[in-house]
Amino acid sequence: MQDMQQGYSCSEPNKIKYSKQILYEVFPLVTRLNEDQLMEKEIEAKLKGASILELELQDADVFCDNCGSYFFDLYRSCACGYVLCLVCCRELRDGQLKGGWKACIDGGIPCPPKDFGGCNDGTLDLKRIMCVDWIVNILEKANRVYKIDNGYDDPQTCMEFNESCLFSLSAKDIQPQHMQHFRSRWSKGEPIIVHDVLSASSGLSWEPMVLWRAFRDKTKKDNYDVNAINCLDWSKVTINLSKFCKGYSEGQVKKRILKLEDWQPCCLQQGEWPCHFIEFVKCLPFKDYTSPHNGYLNMAVKLPDLSSKPNMGPKMDIAYGGSVTKLHYEKSDTVNIMTHTNSASTTLNKTKIVKQEHGDQHEVGPQSQQDVVDPMEGVALWDIFQRQDVPKLEEYLRKHSAKFRHTGCSVEQVFHPIHDRTFYLNMEHKRKLKEEFGIEPWTFKQKLGDAVFIPAGCPYQVRNLKSSTKVELNFISPESLGECIRLQKELRILPNNHRAKQQKLNIGKMLIYALDCAVSELSRFMESNGPTEDLHDQLTNDNDTNGWKCESDNPQDTSSVFLALSPSIDHPHATIEDPEGLWRGIAVGQLEKEVLQAVEDRYPQTFQGLQIHPKPHWLSTLKAFHDFIKSFIQKSVRELEEDELTSLETDIDFFEMIKFDLSWARNRLHMVRNLKFGNDPLRLELVEASTRTERARVEFERARLEYDRAIDARNTKLHEMAQKYGSEYDDVLNGELGFGMVPGY
Ligand SMILES: [Zn+2]
Ligand SMILES: [Zn+2]
Repeated sequence: MQDMQQGYSCSEPNKIKYSKQILYEVFPLVTRLNEDQLMEKEIEAKLKGASILELELQDADVFCDNCGSYFFDLYRSCACGYVLCLVCCRELRDGQLKGGWKACIDGGIPCPPKDFGGCNDGTLDLKRIMCVDWIVNILEKANRVYKIDNGYDDPQTCMEFNESCLFSLSAKDIQPQHMQHFRSRWSKGEPIIVHDVLSASSGLSWEPMVLWRAFRDKTKKDNYDVNAINCLDWSKVTINLSKFCKGYSEGQVKKRILKLEDWQPCCLQQGEWPCHFIEFVKCLPFKDYTSPHNGYLNMAVKLPDLSSKPNMGPKMDIAYGGSVTKLHYEKSDTVNIMTHTNSASTTLNKTKIVKQEHGDQHEVGPQSQQDVVDPMEGVALWDIFQRQDVPKLEEYLRKHSAKFRHTGCSVEQVFHPIHDRTFYLNMEHKRKLKEEFGIEPWTFKQKLGDAVFIPAGCPYQVRNLKSSTKVELNFISPESLGECIRLQKELRILPNNHRAKQQKLNIGKMLIYALDCAVSELSRFMESNGPTEDLHDQLTNDNDTNGWKCESDNPQDTSSVFLALSPSIDHPHATIEDPEGLWRGIAVGQLEKEVLQAVEDRYPQTFQGLQIHPKPHWLSTLKAFHDFIKSFIQKSVRELEEDELTSLETDIDFFEMIKFDLSWARNRLHMVRNLKFGNDPLRLELVEASTRTERARVEFERARLEYDRAIDARNTKLHEMAQKYGSEYDDVLNGELGFGMVPGY
């Protein structure tokens, strides 16, 4: 439902085709998982001579107390609460785990000594998370479908694209047949670049200052600290977010080159007003793979609603020019979009800073003439290594780890040369790597609006030649599952507090649900379509949409799609006449409707030039407009800063481009700009006159106070006189001696 709003739903023929692909990729992997489980069950049957204990279905992800891996189904547990995964069980039996903890000869496993976190007393019983035989049943069904039609063809490539270069194309040129090219390259584990993806956006600004305001509006926090990294010495820097954003446009803060890594601000999450989130999802190319809601080939979204979900982002990197992202792995597939870059070039100054501050600094700042930035050339230098080169790359890094420097000192301890995220290979290292091991990365520059697809298991590093903002999203394609499993196995043997372990994924669980979805889809199709020739026709019939087809031209269709969008209408059979939150036939929500109505009452011209139809894009436009109005209303002029004013004006430009009449708002901003920030002489004269008025008022106040005091003093004296001489004294003094003695005189 969410995704229709953002222009994606998988077509029926594609569902069948993709289900087939998922089945083909996942079936062997789940079979393998199941074999491991069967082995463990046999051991348990011998131990107990009885079936295994069954637990209730668990929603939360449970992980191994020894290695931290998630359980997808069977695991062992002690009455004291200690739990162990099947891989650890096997390693224990094989004698691979160190430290005096041993399996029994019959395969039984005692609870480990206290040093390991156990009670050293009980034994570990086999337990399950999923329903009895659920996996076996899915596998049986999968096997039937698999046997009927195992004619899954590997995607073919045509000659349109040069095989020796990375596959890259422009977002607006994407045609249905490109999905084939994409899959062909992707299945080989090659990165893919799609240019110009921001052309699909509505023009929302990704300037960090704008994000900061969106963030502030959402959190209601004026002061917010973030943990940035100073790329000159790799120290952590706690800094006020607005200061950080300011430094971004200036290129530095106090001669520090900062970087905010893997940041997940609330304005970038799905929520009440996730403007930037919606915008980002809208720009994603190849949504079958990437959609974070319902990408048909995204294995990470196959988990049932109630299951806990892995954190797949989006995350944000806000980097000053000259900063680097060190060599590392994502634990799944990644798409990384450069959403903003700073046009002011401060690179050369920064080079100087780097050299002055750290004479021995090898890894930060441009290193040669070759790196001088040409704005058309791209602003982030990427190196992505091939999966098959990883062993050699690791060997090189271990061998030369002492030669890598942070600030003069070498990398202290290497747990894992890539997962540690401590190395950056400069030109010299890349040259030596090629010389000694014969391998080199794909190297290219990412431009504003470029989406880089990085397959899971390809180590990569990035150097930012200029300040840039990138947003990245993780997804899991069927092609990468094997690699994801390999990476999770590598994580197992890292210390439990290792940074990379935060990216643990329950791949086993995803596999099972993905297989279940694919099998259900295929069975449904076969039942309703009979002979399998149809299936084959469907599979070879290429009418991909790649997620770019947004709206139906059929008006009836549009309204039904549109109705499904309204989150405020809970009833599935709600009609278009439903008045709740309906504005010009668009279900914008009650609050939004009130704001839009208020604007129209006060400034009726605002919407006069528009032709608003109940179409999905109008919903997002109106929501964006509502956001703008809300921030406009709430902005205090006293606290307003000049760049905020500029950003509001940019927003107005945008809305006026699509024919909103915002002259009234523009007039107000114009007024504030001239009078608060400008030098209009009238303003100065007014200020002076006001000062004079104020001064006179103060004098006047003082005089009045004196007057009041004098009156009081006189009244007191009058009173005293009356006390002493009687109330007639005044008249006697001012008249005759005989005053009041005889009436009439
Ligand atoms: Zn384990
Ligand atoms: Zn125990």
